Amino acid sequence: MFLQNLNLSLKRKSKNNHHPWIDLDAASTTPVSGEVLHAMKPYWNEIYFNPNAIHAAGQLVSRAMAYSRQIVADYFSTNANKIFFTTSATEANNWMTESCAQIMLPEKAKPHIIYSAIEHDSVIAPLLKLEHEGLITTTVLPVNDKGIVDIQALEKAINKRTVLVSVMAVNNEMGALEPLALIGEYLNKFRQQQKTFYPYFHSDAAQALNYFAWSDLKYLDCLTFSGHKINGPKGIGGLALLNAQMLKIMNPLIVGGHQEFNLRAGTENLPAIVGLAKALSILKQNTVRDNNYLFKLRSLFWKTLQEHNSNIQINGELNFSVPSIINCYFPGVLASDMIAGLSEKGVLASPGAACSASLGMPSHVINALYHDKQRAQESVRFSFGHHLGLNEVKEAARLAADLYTQLSQLKAKV
Ligand code: PLP
Repeated sequence: MFLQNLNLSLKRKSKNNHHPWIDLDAASTTPVSGEVLHAMKPYWNEIYFNPNAIHAAGQLVSRAMAYSRQIVADYFSTNANKIFFTTSATEANNWMTESCAQIMLPEKAKPHIIYSAIEHDSVIAPLLKLEHEGLITTTVLPVNDKGIVDIQALEKAINKRTVLVSVMAVNNEMGALEPLALIGEYLNKFRQQQKTFYPYFHSDAAQALNYFAWSDLKYLDCLTFSGHKINGPKGIGGLALLNAQMLKIMNPLIVGGHQEFNLRAGTENLPAIVGLAKALSILKQNTVRDNNYLFKLRSLFWKTLQEHNSNIQINGELNFSVPSIINCYFPGVLASDMIAGLSEKGVLASPGAACSASLGMPSHVINALYHDKQRAQESVRFSFGHHLGLNEVKEAARLAADLYTQLSQLKAKV
């Protein structure tokens, strides 16, 4: 549908956006920044050529693509031939897990894959499918009540058949920052003792791009990124391989063309690739300043919620999570009722991952922290982006707390 057909009533104008909502759903997606939009623009209809064409115009845009790939590679301290663009982090996670599942082990042993209980569905679902098909075995790592992966459980689960350990860098529902350096060090020790390349260590970094110094993570082998979580465009993501050995195990994902080093055929989405590279270069310059602002927004939000209704609780712990996310437990009120009520008041939030929100299932992440399905159904994620102003966030918190008070009173009367 085109914008003019949407009939939006522009009663409220947010800090930088001309829409009627206070958007506390930045973990779901972010607006494309003006600078990114500007960088992408010529590649739609001015220099729109196919980067695979061998004529001069094709070569010109092919250089733009190589330049963008190099920016992404530099961001992750790897080489350009180890950056694979996909349409999304979802696709990248599917590709990584499925490639590792096909690793050939001596004596036809079944590959074993370890992943955390709080991974995004795009890691969990392909692994469940592969396990169901009898191709792999898996172990799920529990997390503590802060959402942090249990390393001792990893030590118990790992064995000679373990080809992959996948632990996300930042959880998308409650923001927990995972101890990637510690996990990497442990895995490296294991590999040295066993004299093998395995297991590879993958991290879904879709929510984490500005929260880690990627060059410091010596033992991480591969990570997943996504454009639209960092004020870049939707429809672009990918894998950054940090270990050359992994090039050997990547299975062709789509065949019929030589793109992405013969592993993923199809004409590249050049405007989106340029936009992603631009978004990453902006992130590199602004990380500290931007994170400080997010801390300010989140503290104000939480303080205001508490001032208005002290029954609201935090899931996880703020000290162990990134400043862009807070997940709140509203005892006795369903997340779906909170979200619908807030939406009517012009505030946008999610029960958890946007992709599974529409299914109305209790969050598997909150359940992994507390083993409490009811709490998992009564928890709402609020996430903050740079497009928000302090006043908007304060107003949203007041509206959320008042709505919770109203809904709890209604429930008490029934
Ligand atoms: N992984 C994590 C941690 C996410 O938060 C998301 C999106 O919500 C994804 C993967 C999927 O990203 P994409 O929308 O690029 O497929």
